[in-house]
Amino acid sequence: MNSALRTIDSVPVITDEPTLAPMRDKAGKPIFWQQTRTLCLADGRTVYGCAHCEYTSENVLSIRPHLNVHKARPTTPTGDDDPVAALVARLAEYDRVAAERDEWKRRAKAAERDLRAIRKAIGGVQS
Ligand SMILES: [Zn+2]
Repeated sequence: MNSALRTIDSVPVITDEPTLAPMRDKAGKPIFWQQTRTLCLADGRTVYGCAHCEYTSENVLSIRPHLNVHKARPTTPTGDDDPVAALVARLAEYDRVAAERDEWKRRAKAAERDLRAIRKAIGGVQS
């Protein structure tokens, strides 16, 4: 597919360039966000797009949070600074606790059964 034919709301995209960030680096030089694309449309509008998918927004600042969608999957969990990895770890912990709880529930029921059998046996002896 020819990228020149890309359209947004059926309006052709004229240019697709890195986005000039609202801040500068320590040396005072402009920073360009390579993954946040500035898309100039044929009707004169400018929208911002994700470099990895079709996501676009008129708000330049909404692209960078969106980039996390692409970051989370291919890289292996790096630790506490990765909220998705932390969430996955918590879900795994929940599964483990739930499995443990089911096991205890099973044992409690088995103990209840034993207790009933013992009561019955004792009752049988007493009567
Ligand atoms: Zn994207």
